[in-house]
Amino acid sequence: MSLFALSCNAQSKKGVQEKQNVSEQVYDTADYPDEVVPIVKSADEWASELTKMEYYVLREAGTERSFTGDLWDNKKEGTYVCRACGLALFDSETKYKSGTGWPSFYAPIKSEYVGEDTDYKLGYARTEVHCARCGGHLGHVFPDGPKPTGLRYCMNSVSMDFVPKEDN
Ligand SMILES: [Zn+2]
Repeated sequence: MSLFALSCNAQSKKGVQEKQNVSEQVYDTADYPDEVVPIVKSADEWASELTKMEYYVLREAGTERSFTGDLWDNKKEGTYVCRACGLALFDSETKYKSGTGWPSFYAPIKSEYVGEDTDYKLGYARTEVHCARCGGHLGHVFPDGPKPTGLRYCMNSVSMDFVPKEDN
């Protein structure tokens, strides 16, 4: 995984310019629990387990710059899991080219694995999407996706880890 310069974010808040992109892959297998049991950790605990960029997006609902993540253009077969807790979120079969520069899917692996909230950050309602187990922010879902669902799950690369099919 390559590091990239965040110098364009130098003026942004929270010191993003010093934050690294993505750490090495941490999950070798995807977790498909029958029942989602919430994982609750303190801010300090999350901060010790995540890179600063991961923390910014997953715990502070930040957004990575488009075309900067390591998964938007990933075409391999496999499973996209929560970067923070390893829960299986999206299968590569539902990934499609949205042109946005963020990894986009038309459906999650199981609806129970993702949670939704309404987000008014930009002044209008958007549907925020998070990991149903650890609450980590993933991105947003929009009603302009392809068939069969018509949905576009617009996710942050940094919120997810990719487990190639051979390792499942
Ligand atoms: Zn999670």
